[in-house]
Amino acid sequence: MRSEFETRREIVEIGRRLWDRGYVAANDGNISARLGGRILVTPTGLSKGFLKPDDIVVVSESGVKLSGRIEPTSELPMHLAVYRERADVDAVVHAHPPKATGFAVAGVPLAQCVLPEVILTLGEVPLAGYATPSTEEVARSICEFIPRFNAILLSNHGALTLGRDLSQAYFRMETVEHFAEITLAARALGGPSPLSSDDVRKLLNVREKLGLGETVADCSDCGACDGATAASGATGGAGSTVAPDEEEIVRAVLARLGDVLDEKGDRR
Ligand SMILES: [Zn+2]
Repeated sequence: MRSEFETRREIVEIGRRLWDRGYVAANDGNISARLGGRILVTPTGLSKGFLKPDDIVVVSESGVKLSGRIEPTSELPMHLAVYRERADVDAVVHAHPPKATGFAVAGVPLAQCVLPEVILTLGEVPLAGYATPSTEEVARSICEFIPRFNAILLSNHGALTLGRDLSQAYFRMETVEHFAEITLAARALGGPSPLSSDDVRKLLNVREKLGLGETVADCSDCGACDGATAASGATGGAGSTVAPDEEEIVRAVLARLGDVLDEKGDRR
């Protein structure tokens, strides 16, 4: 297990990346990690680009402040709601990446099966109803999505990503913003062409082969997932085999997913 100091440094590093990439402006965004039954979380009122390990606040899983010079982020209830519901999640990142937030402001979820790597690693990114930021309403607005999704758009607000550790939660934020950016470009060029049910079915097989299945949400309204799931008999089950024409897809996907696989093999 990582030490508290290492975790503080990692939160600082991820805050710097969020700010560097323009995913947060001014004091926006918040980051937390669960460590040994306690939650380390960013403080309120500071830019995520310039945090110091010392600034990180420690609270109990029920939100009682245990240490820290500054108060924890006002979005703490949203983080605590995730940890309550998801024993497999030990890190939460919230930011306002401009393109993904544009979708959240336009009321458009990122729900189409258009990008193989998103289908393999993240799945659908649903849109939670509007809730006043910094209130308990936000935790309530995401409740129904927490059990099934690792990335959620918050209407007229921003995005939330969950992970088993800080780097996974952060990289999911990058994937969400990248997905939004590509979808936006495709829309400007006449609209994305979703993958066919058959293509999605092959990807679901690959996903299962790679052992990614349980952490990835099927998309609910593109139509392709439904058809694909039905066609492959609920994604084939544990004994499914990869057909010869899928071997090439597996190889291509393995090449593109080096990071994901490294992470999966990482037992730190
Ligand atoms: Zn926010």
